[in-house]
Formats: sequence, C-alpha cells, structure tokens
Amino acid sequence: MAIIVFLLLHWYLSLFGQTFYLHRYSAHKMFTMSKFWEKFWYMYTWITQGTSYLNARAYAILHRMHHAYSDTQLDPHTPHFFKEAFTMRK
Ligand SMILES: [Zn+2]
Repeated sequence: MAIIVFLLLHWYLSLFGQTFYLHRYSAHKMFTMSKFWEKFWYMYTWITQGTSYLNARAYAILHRMHHAYSDTQLDPHTPHFFKEAFTMRK
C-alpha cells in the first residue's frame, strides 16, 4: 500500500512541477516570481521529476518551438514525424 501512495504522490507532484514551473512559468512566462521562489520551484521540480527532469531553459526552448512550428518537421513535440515515443524529444 505504501508503494502505491508513494507512486501516486510522485506522479502528481512531478506533474504539478511540469505544468506550473516548466510549462506556465518557464516556457510561457504567464506570471513572475522572486528569485527565491524560482529557485524553490526549480528544486521542487528537479526533485519530484528525478531522472525525467529537463532543464527549465531547454524545456522552454523546445516548447516554444512546439508552439511556433506545430506539427511540422521543426516541432520537437509532434508525434507525426516520430515512429514511437522513445525517439521523441521532450
Ligand atoms: Zn504551451
């Protein structure tokens, strides 16, 4: 039972770091925060995502390319030009 709770917490906490810090803050600049809170959320996301963590700057660049070139050869997130998920960039 404890492992299920751990996995659910890990999943949801890392998902929150993805949407709140990497997507909305780093890639889209939807809001601002102080350097303290920026470092806090950086560490939070790094800890909760573990080996899946992608540097916030790198994520922002890839994600902005995704919006600029949706579903073209330059889109790093599109499923149209990759045969399976393992060869896709984040
Ligand atoms: Zn976006």
